[in-house]
Amino acid sequence: MRVVVTGAAGFLGSHLCDRLLAGGYDVVGIDHFITGNPANLAHVERHPHWHFMRHDVTTYIEVEGPVDGVLHFASPASPVDYLELPIQTLKVGSLGTHKALGLAKAKGARFLLASTSEVYGDPLVHPQPERYWGNVNPVGPRGVYDEAKRFAEAMTMAYHRYHGVDTRIARIFNTYGPRMRPRDGRVVSNFIVQALKGEPLTVYGDGGQTRSFCYVDDLIDGIVRLFERGDPDPTNIGNPDEFTVRQLAEQVIALTGSKSPIVERPLPTDDPKMRRPDITRARAVLDWAPRVPLQEGLKRTIPYFRTALGD
Ligand code: NAD
Ligand code: UDP
Repeated sequence: MRVVVTGAAGFLGSHLCDRLLAGGYDVVGIDHFITGNPANLAHVERHPHWHFMRHDVTTYIEVEGPVDGVLHFASPASPVDYLELPIQTLKVGSLGTHKALGLAKAKGARFLLASTSEVYGDPLVHPQPERYWGNVNPVGPRGVYDEAKRFAEAMTMAYHRYHGVDTRIARIFNTYGPRMRPRDGRVVSNFIVQALKGEPLTVYGDGGQTRSFCYVDDLIDGIVRLFERGDPDPTNIGNPDEFTVRQLAEQVIALTGSKSPIVERPLPTDDPKMRRPDITRARAVLDWAPRVPLQEGLKRTIPYFRTALGD
């Protein structure tokens, strides 16, 4: 099996490439490093089953030879990134998804879209099952990401229904782990970096908003299962253990042994108040559930940031 991974140099894309190579796949990684890092792929450079193409996937994607799968992970994913890159985010979600689907159709390959819990917006149903259609502000600052992903899901289903492409949609909930950029602005990376540097941990709002954090190894396991044995209906992949942002800050301080204080900063516009996946479907269809609790995942992640910061 030969598969293409877009966004291969990113946090999730690089872990996914590792897992696919370990599973015996030939992997063609594509990225143009807008938010990714070549260092995430340095260790696979000489792997006999690895090939890399530097390319912007919003333009025609040409891959020689057979392709059995296309896993489309290219997109800025941190709110700070997509607020700084609004047009690129819209383009990669729309044009990039179209090109990646076109590649899958031309090659007769299976297609998997890395979608997001952001399709539920600021949810009015809790926890969020796949049948919930969401509560998204299309013209707010987060709309560039949320609507691009909603368009990407619609495009994926159209290629499935109209062209008969075998597709998968993974709705990924907040995931963390090694290889996140220390300054990518997401809450886990921000808090760990702040704690290690002895800086105040910046809780946005009163910190009462909730998220459910999935360790990267669990997430990748769910993605590969979905790719190999899932079906075209959207599938939530995430960890249903829910925490307030303030609880996360307290855990990070305890686990790093930091003396950093917690400070409050303004809540960003349209910041979802709560988020937790209903993973009934993933359990039933994929026989998948996350195994790594938050505390354990943070213990595995903190040493990576210590090294990245040069401690
Ligand atoms: P990331 O920013 O680390 O990785 C994204 C990668 O895509 C980067 O390497 C970037 O350079 C590349 N990219 C962006 N636009 C591109 C383009 N036009 N052409 C080629 N490459 C391009 O982010 P991540 O956390 O690894 O997220 C990967 C995917 O998973 C994204 O699609 C994201 O929306 C989705 N996702 C992630 C999370 C999470 O918690 N990490 C949650 C929900 C969804
Ligand atoms: N957040 C925070 N402090 C930070 C970064 C983020 O309190 O330094 C909050 C943010 O407002 C949100 C939650 O943490 O409520 C998760 O933010 P993140 O950017 O990781 O992703 P989101 O789930 O919002 O896409």
